[in-house]
Amino acid sequence: MDDLAAQLADRRAQGLYRQRQIITGAHGVRVQMGQQSLLSFCSNDYLGLASEPRIVNAFCVAATRYGVGSGASHLITGHNHAHHALEEELAEFVGAPRVLLFSTGYMANLGVVTALAKRHGTVFEDKLNHASLIDAARLSNANVQRYPHADVDRLTALVTASDGDKLITTDAVFSMDGDLAPLEDLAALAAQHQAWLLVDDAHGLGVLGPEGRGSLADCGIAIKPPTILMGTLGKAFGVFGAFVAGSHELIETLIQQARTYIYTTALPPAVAEAARASLKIVQTEIWRRQHLFALVEHFVDGARNLGLRLADSQTPIQPVIFGDAKRALAASEYLRDQGILVTAIRPPTVPRDTARLRITFSAAHEIAHVDRLLDALSRLPVTP
Ligand SMILES: *Cc1c(COP(=O)(O)O)cnc(C)c1O
Repeated sequence: MDDLAAQLADRRAQGLYRQRQIITGAHGVRVQMGQQSLLSFCSNDYLGLASEPRIVNAFCVAATRYGVGSGASHLITGHNHAHHALEEELAEFVGAPRVLLFSTGYMANLGVVTALAKRHGTVFEDKLNHASLIDAARLSNANVQRYPHADVDRLTALVTASDGDKLITTDAVFSMDGDLAPLEDLAALAAQHQAWLLVDDAHGLGVLGPEGRGSLADCGIAIKPPTILMGTLGKAFGVFGAFVAGSHELIETLIQQARTYIYTTALPPAVAEAARASLKIVQTEIWRRQHLFALVEHFVDGARNLGLRLADSQTPIQPVIFGDAKRALAASEYLRDQGILVTAIRPPTVPRDTARLRITFSAAHEIAHVDRLLDALSRLPVTP
């Protein structure tokens, strides 16, 4: 028991201690923390929909109609008309035969991977995959092979050398780096070796592709075997929940076998109705994506002029790498004193010696907000 205190002290000494910040208002580009109102550049609310009044209203109307709780899991009596309608609309949106809702993206990844990867099979993981994909592979009884980030040659060698069932998993937009997976190459490799390909598009859905249909649509890759899409509703959609899109047989298999689908309470129907309202906005309000990418471009140009070293990202995720965790923390604290909120991301969320400020943009930001951020970055007391 004394070990816990010692471990916590050790974490603190290394600059790795994590603390929660208490937000007292609604989520937006301005967040209220105690007495301070901060300009935030660290949410995943890419389209500025988390507090959108039309979505909030859809949620309230549905809560009045359906109540707050779903009451049971989907396979008992929790599967409401609202969930079903959302599944059908999402399937049409992403261009897949079927969609299955999950409560969170974390659970969706666990559900798909454990349903498809069995003993004697192998799950291949990009080294920078999201923790939920890594945990999912660990939870399955399959072998796990991690390949160097986006290294298709190395992955090809690993896949070629392995026997049994194969499942390749990847983030589409890497969550802490903002770069894109080589999806065309991965899809071709998967098809050639009869391996499944699970694409986690938590940060691409709503942001990339025509009408925000996501990274696969952006690359023109169809959602049919071997390709499976996992999308989340808590990021660009501004709501909560997640889904898996794939063939009819895949979805039926998940309904039979995905334990994170079967043994958990269904999302509240009001959340599903909020997501339906969000989907309409995601599809029709193209200006949100146009404005978002104009902000990103403005930032990248400005950061280059300042001589800041940015990662190779064209998405709204723009990390500034400091390496040392304490320096990243010091930078984050300096920005906070300037009224700007950008959290420092440290190991083990990112690899050792790659601690960073993970700057993200939202369609709710204005160009003037980006200028304020650039101005503060130009005066950082610690250099990246
Ligand atoms: C956020 C995230 C998830 C988890 O989604 P939740 O719905 O928040 O559980 C999964 N994968 C990636 C890449 C993510 O960024």
